[in-house]
Amino acid sequence: MTSEHIEMHLKFLFDLDNLLEDMEAQDYQSIGFKIEKEEHLSLARARNDLLKKLPEEIADMYERLKKRYQRAIAPVDNGFCFGCFQKLPTELITRQKEFLTCPNCGRILYWRKKS
Ligand SMILES: [Zn+2]
Repeated sequence: MTSEHIEMHLKFLFDLDNLLEDMEAQDYQSIGFKIEKEEHLSLARARNDLLKKLPEEIADMYERLKKRYQRAIAPVDNGFCFGCFQKLPTELITRQKEFLTCPNCGRILYWRKKS
């Protein structure tokens, strides 16, 4: 798996986690909706499949970070980690094709594509 693939998978995982969180928050307001429950289950299943496709150490890292911070991955903008808002070392910024984590907060970093 290339680092680009890993990044893609992680972003998808991140989106799924956000969806699941939204759904869980809504559940408090509308308990007992069967359709929502089924949707939640299939999302949770998709999430597990995705997690299995990732290299084990990265999947573990993601889960660990998620427990700690809620949001395990952080975009980089202007040389700053948007998880902890610290400036990243220049030598790290030149390696943006690789799989990297923030040296300050440990979140998995991704670079926003310029459009
Ligand atoms: Zn950080």
